[in-house]
Amino acid sequence: MGHRSIIEPFRIKCVEPIRMTTRAQRRNFLEEAAYNPFLLHADHVLIDLLTDSGTGAMSAEQWASIMRGDESYAGGRSYYRLLDVIQSIFGFRYVLPTHQGRAAERILFSSMCKPGDVVPNNTHFDTTRANIEETGAQAVDLPTAEGRLPAAIHPFKGNMDVDALETVIAQAGADRVPLVVLTVTNNSGGGQPVSMANIRAVRAVCNRHRIPLYIDACRFAENSWFIREREEGYAGKTPREVARELFSYADGCTMSAKKDGLVNIGGFLACNDEALVKRESRLLILTEGFPTYGGLAGRDLEAMATGLEEVLHEDYLHYRIASTAYLGDHLTRIGVPIVQPPGGHAIYIDAAAMLPHVPARLFPGQALVAELYLEGGIRAVEIGTVMFGSTDAQTGEETVAAMELVRLAIPRRVYTQSHIDYVCEVLSDVFARRDRIAGLRMVWQAPPLRHFTARFQPV
Ligand SMILES: *Cc1c(COP(=O)(O)O)cnc(C)c1O
Repeated sequence: MGHRSIIEPFRIKCVEPIRMTTRAQRRNFLEEAAYNPFLLHADHVLIDLLTDSGTGAMSAEQWASIMRGDESYAGGRSYYRLLDVIQSIFGFRYVLPTHQGRAAERILFSSMCKPGDVVPNNTHFDTTRANIEETGAQAVDLPTAEGRLPAAIHPFKGNMDVDALETVIAQAGADRVPLVVLTVTNNSGGGQPVSMANIRAVRAVCNRHRIPLYIDACRFAENSWFIREREEGYAGKTPREVARELFSYADGCTMSAKKDGLVNIGGFLACNDEALVKRESRLLILTEGFPTYGGLAGRDLEAMATGLEEVLHEDYLHYRIASTAYLGDHLTRIGVPIVQPPGGHAIYIDAAAMLPHVPARLFPGQALVAELYLEGGIRAVEIGTVMFGSTDAQTGEETVAAMELVRLAIPRRVYTQSHIDYVCEVLSDVFARRDRIAGLRMVWQAPPLRHFTARFQPV
């Protein structure tokens, strides 16, 4: 069987048309959207690789769960089913449902952080950083040296630099570090996994300083699969067993179920600390809802519970990781520089290496995103200076990001191999004329999270 294709482990029961456009139409749409893919109409996009967040397809079983949802205001059956599922996979005692990951982040960080605090993470996701900074605390990224090098091949490039963590704690003082966060997989760092050994090492540092460890669990199943495939001692374990061990080292987690929850909306915050969860419940009630539904409908809770079970199926994870690698390996073969090795949910093109003639202040990643749309109606997203840089209000000087990446995020269970082949063909054509791609100038921005609304013009 080793020589055979890894096929989609599902058949299609419901289809949704996608629309073709002409190059002339796309040029107009791109100008109207000020060269920002977030401002495009989704109807004008052929293959949408903007994000893997909330864009997945639900299974027949999840749609059946939708009908079983209990819409009781308090104490609904769907909440208790979700609680059971989360307790059995994640092992945490208390679970607060939220409408998505950032709501869990806001509640967690405003319950734990104060001005002057420091929160280390392997790499903070943009909403995580923004929610920490909103409390007056400082968000610090501590990726390892190999995690900063797009071309370096390493099995666990998502790891946290444990020595750097010790240094940050020593400099700030343990009482100024209210928690440490590990993001699995490391989304902003190229979708790369974190090893169990690294999680254990970070836990040991946290223990020594009595600091709680939280997992940003968005892609916990994909990370568990990588541990099983790549880390010694895990080959015989099920993804569920790996996940159980992973969370056993943590005091709690935040989750965007729009990723490995296989739903279009949903999330949760979980922990074992009774006093903390009481404070968090007060905030939850203020902005999300009663603690047994937290901003979601009963049917959403039910679909999330089913999704969390399905995402750990071996056939699914095998196909998921292999299909992302298929895109990455194909692009590597035609010479497109990507973050190596391919991650779990996305392929990250190294735009700085592909367009060396475009300086970071002219946003090579954003320029490449625009070309992909123009060439083939493909929507990708810049993960570079547009997302993580900033402009000095006085001098207009741009602080640039460490890497200029373009992310091709793969929605779960949505596109087939022929869609992905098309993406490779379009990229091949763009790659062939890369020398003629010019940069973009940012003409309007609104921080924080400026990438959602910034406007650009070609130079
Ligand atoms: C998506 C994401 C979040 C935020 O979740 P939302 O559901 O979009 O609010 C947080 N952390 C990581 C790593 C993510 O990928």
